[in-house]
Amino acid sequence: MATLLVKNIGLLQTPTGNYSHKGAEQGENLKLKDAAIFIEDGIIKEITADGAIPAGGEDADMIVDAEGKLVTPGLVDGHTHMIFGGYRQHEIPMKIKGATYLDILKAGGGILDTVRKTRAASFEELYGKTEGFLDEMLGMGVTTCEAKSGYGLDLETEVKMLEVLKKLNEDHPVDVVTTFMGAHAIPEDYKTMENGADKFIELLCEEMLPYVKEHGLADYADIFCEEGVFDAPQSQKYLEKAKELGFKLRIHADEIEPMGGSVLAGEISAVSAEHLIAIDQAGLESMAKAGVTAMCLPATSFNLGVSFAPARKMIEMGIPVATASDFNPGSCPSLNLQFVMNLACLRYKLLPEEILTAVTINPACALGMGDKVGTLEVGKQGDLVIWDAPDMDFLCYRFGSNLALQTIKKGMLV
Ligand SMILES: [Zn+2]
Repeated sequence: MATLLVKNIGLLQTPTGNYSHKGAEQGENLKLKDAAIFIEDGIIKEITADGAIPAGGEDADMIVDAEGKLVTPGLVDGHTHMIFGGYRQHEIPMKIKGATYLDILKAGGGILDTVRKTRAASFEELYGKTEGFLDEMLGMGVTTCEAKSGYGLDLETEVKMLEVLKKLNEDHPVDVVTTFMGAHAIPEDYKTMENGADKFIELLCEEMLPYVKEHGLADYADIFCEEGVFDAPQSQKYLEKAKELGFKLRIHADEIEPMGGSVLAGEISAVSAEHLIAIDQAGLESMAKAGVTAMCLPATSFNLGVSFAPARKMIEMGIPVATASDFNPGSCPSLNLQFVMNLACLRYKLLPEEILTAVTINPACALGMGDKVGTLEVGKQGDLVIWDAPDMDFLCYRFGSNLALQTIKKGMLV
């Protein structure tokens, strides 16, 4: 039996419970001073406060002194596109000189450039590269993440991506929850076809979704509902088919234009809706009614220089808010969830307690992991971070540095 004691925690701060927190509860955290946590075989056995030490704690196989610092649950990144071939840094000078998204696409860039490079990459190449990203995340305090396919747009490559992610979930300390997102863009050959988007949706529904389900490669299905990609009726068709097959649902909605994606998210009982920069009142009401988690991605807004999702309003309307990195090679080439927390504070105007909920229990629930991770409570996984900070205010205030001193995953120092 492997045991670990983390003692001398100046402040232990965590949301509590196994469910998504909305409204006032989004800002409710348990705060324990002078705390200690005892972990046995990866599971939290006891948490004490006010200088008390858990029973058996002093005999633990390993004792870590937190030296009076802040400890929170391990962070959960609920939205990434972290597996992809190549990079797109060559687009930066083009963008600076004023090239539009369409100019870049015409020059052979954009998402279809990543699709070509991902199709060309081997299993081993994708595995090694994504493993590096997971290491980087872990070093920055992220212990659980979501990862989507969607740079293959054909069955072979989508399956390759999901198999890499599945293998990494087994091999790497970070828990990786996979989402099938074959409906990320319209492939080049379908773009030139008449009704190409409809025909591609047909292929996704009849071939790819059933294959992915049958082979247990993903529990979630996601689609990009946006002007020039898939419209609301196409998204509905795809998500209904996914639901029928037993997938849980996500939808990239209202990033640029309110296209009905967030309304659909509520109607179809999606687990989460993503982006939501341009969400309208009807979308907000639909999501609030159905309890859909708003997966807000402020680093993407920052990187694109566009406006920010109305996260403050969402909390006021009783929508559970999560904030994630959206790490991808185009619109957000950063996996730094600490920077996302800074932006959630400065641009969304969320309070530090609300932000902690948005990067722990709320995304954990949106990944179906709320009973295992996302809070520090007896019976949950021993996933936690010791921060080079005295409190959450400090974590939201310092930006640009990595303040994670020590990440612990299932009771192991990683
Ligand atoms: Zn995304």
